[in-house]
Amino acid sequence: MDVRNCRVCGRMYNYLGGIPICPVCKKEIEDKFNQVKEYIRENPRASIQQISEDNEVSVQQINQWVREERLEFAKDSPIAMTCEKCGASIRTGRFCEKCKNNLASEMTDAFAKPISFEEPKKQAHDSDKMRFKRS
Ligand SMILES: [Zn+2]
Ligand SMILES: [Zn+2]
Repeated sequence: MDVRNCRVCGRMYNYLGGIPICPVCKKEIEDKFNQVKEYIRENPRASIQQISEDNEVSVQQINQWVREERLEFAKDSPIAMTCEKCGASIRTGRFCEKCKNNLASEMTDAFAKPISFEEPKKQAHDSDKMRFKRS
């Protein structure tokens, strides 16, 4: 059993992975999240400061939800999020569509190499065939 102190209230609880926050605080954050989501839907033009004040949620927390793509601002919202790579203005997440696509293909390239090495059976078979053809 992994017992830890909750990062928010300091209470000891049985840690199950993820961010070290106890179930009680986790639920409170979830409730806040739903409240903020609702608030943004009703007040699409609210600034991040206003959202923070009206919902008693820190700006930092709101930013985190946006970066996690859990919150998305309306098109006419005054809140400007920027792509962490090229600085283009975005509505949610950390990167614009273009950079996201670039990152995705970079990741595939990085993963493609080790994966091909993990198929020794097929490779051996192919090279056997090649040797057979050549001889
Ligand atoms: Zn707690
Ligand atoms: Zn970008």
